[in-house]
Amino acid sequence: MFDSETVLFAGGRIDRAAHLRMRADALLADPEARSMVMWRGKALFEDDAAPRLAWLPPDAPILGDAAEPPIFLGLDGTAPRFAHDISGWADPVADAAPGFADTSINRHPAAGGLGFQDLRGAMSRLDPTDAGDAVTAKGIFGWHASHRFCARCGAPSRVAQAGWQRVCDACGGSHFPRTDPVVIMLVLHRGRLLMGRSPAWPEGMFSLLAGFMEPGESIEAAVRREVIEETGVRVGRVGYLASQPWPFPASLMIGCWAEALSDEIVLDPVELEDAFWISREGLLAERTAESPRLRPARRGAIAHFLIEHWLAGRLDLPL
Ligand SMILES: [Zn+2]
Repeated sequence: MFDSETVLFAGGRIDRAAHLRMRADALLADPEARSMVMWRGKALFEDDAAPRLAWLPPDAPILGDAAEPPIFLGLDGTAPRFAHDISGWADPVADAAPGFADTSINRHPAAGGLGFQDLRGAMSRLDPTDAGDAVTAKGIFGWHASHRFCARCGAPSRVAQAGWQRVCDACGGSHFPRTDPVVIMLVLHRGRLLMGRSPAWPEGMFSLLAGFMEPGESIEAAVRREVIEETGVRVGRVGYLASQPWPFPASLMIGCWAEALSDEIVLDPVELEDAFWISREGLLAERTAESPRLRPARRGAIAHFLIEHWLAGRLDLPL
């Protein structure tokens, strides 16, 4: 059975209760109110090995480091849920820029044994509902950090609607959090899957083809364009499979299947370092090989999710 909504980051626990955003200040005083804490895109977790989001009361000392009022995330049952961003804090121990998979843990002196972990670095260990709630906060804070000025007139804008808007007092413009759609596809030709690797990826890692959608494109058109641009393979029919919020920094991954009409590969060397066709049997054999040539897509990413369901024969594809 294939349930598209079991992909990581797709399902939080919190009801966004958008109608309450205007009353967020009053809700912050509710005795049940709790807040998650984010620092430079990392979330504060209670346990290092089996991380669960830390939900702190609004008067917790660490929240004093937030430069802006919290975002109102919504309700967990009747309990108001917020998110504070304390990115202004400088961790004297480890303040390095994150790499491809940041597995470091940062500890704030006012947070006891709790630690900040990168959502991608920890994604194979995250609770699914925590993951969904945390990426909501990650996406909004990331948007605020890179949209401090009005895109219409250039004046500084300010946070409104409990974090879900920015408004410009100079020109009256309203700005909303943006999401950038990306197509990612299982391209299939007579039972074989098209895989590729980006030059920037860790050695041996292969995954599905993917690319940003452009203005004026349907999902189907974006899939066909990306596949032919990167590999020279022509695509016919395209269908939707699943989607994954991916706020690193602002993407929504749209997972599709695509029917290849040709199989000759002509690489675009800027986008891809290598690409090849592989059968189910070939990919499964890699798993048990003594010295596998392929590193699988990361567990938790939609590429891994789609490949695993394809390998298990759970996708009911009309191919
Ligand atoms: Zn403006």
